[in-house]
Amino acid sequence: TGAKRVVTRFAPSPTGFLHIGGARTALFNLLFARHHGGKFLLRIEDTDRARSTEPAIAAILDGMRWLNLDWDGDEVYQFARAERHAQVAHAMLAGGHAYKCFATAEELEAMRAEQKANKQPLRYDGRWRDRDPAEGGNAPYVIRLKAPREGAVTIEDHVQGPVTVNNSELDDLVLLRSDGTPTYMLAVVVDDHDMGVTHVIRGDDHLNNAFRQLPIYRAMQAIEGGWEEPQYAHIPLIFNPDGTKMSKRKNAVAVDEYRDQLGILPEALSNYLLRLGWGHGDDEIISREQAIAWFELSGVGKSPSRFDLKKLENL
Ligand code: GLU
Repeated sequence: TGAKRVVTRFAPSPTGFLHIGGARTALFNLLFARHHGGKFLLRIEDTDRARSTEPAIAAILDGMRWLNLDWDGDEVYQFARAERHAQVAHAMLAGGHAYKCFATAEELEAMRAEQKANKQPLRYDGRWRDRDPAEGGNAPYVIRLKAPREGAVTIEDHVQGPVTVNNSELDDLVLLRSDGTPTYMLAVVVDDHDMGVTHVIRGDDHLNNAFRQLPIYRAMQAIEGGWEEPQYAHIPLIFNPDGTKMSKRKNAVAVDEYRDQLGILPEALSNYLLRLGWGHGDDEIISREQAIAWFELSGVGKSPSRFDLKKLENL
């Protein structure tokens, strides 16, 4: 069979420190790629210009180097690819898989207020989907996906198993804003496609996004072909030992805290992160070589992991 070479990626948004949950996601991506003799790529998702910072980018790169999470080639900066994202949005528009929406902010606000009053789900109602764009004149517009309305989509997730969402639950999401900048949904799909990503391994807080991203692949596949859908593995998030969400107040959450304040060795943190949600029998210490040889997505647990600093310190 013509099995494609495995390509994975870690795609952090540089809005703060390198979170240990992110470090574990990066580790799993690296191990999966190395296990299959593939590539592990790094993409800095800096499209949110207000929240992305240089120190955050430095913290991510430093933290990854410190943990020995070596990516292949140069890191890709998402913002630098904005023109390419816009080009794909316009191709979707020309191909009839997207449309111009001239609804104003006030109008959408009123729509949501009405939906709220009627206890309906808050969702764009498709008011420009079948209208003649000429009616919009020279007013600013966004480009929205013409999402399928009928049927359902099932993702065979490598960790979650089969997950199904009805298309009626999804709305016509914005691809390109009125200022011409891409949304996260569009940028991720275009970049993953252009980088040849075969397996998207990320936190399960992104599972819902997969159902909004797949229609973009399908539209582009229909328009120009070659847009094969990636395989997905959404890994459970990490929680505090008491089951609450990881927070600065209860736990150290930044990789640099482990390095600079707690004096944890990178091998120890990396080993601990590996064993959070993935196991190999009773083995406590697993070398990087062993981890590469043994790593399988089927070994990733479905239930949330709990990060216990005491256990890490006792290792
Ligand atoms: N940039 C996103 C984040 O930091 C991840 C996107 C993805 O993995 O698809 O949460």
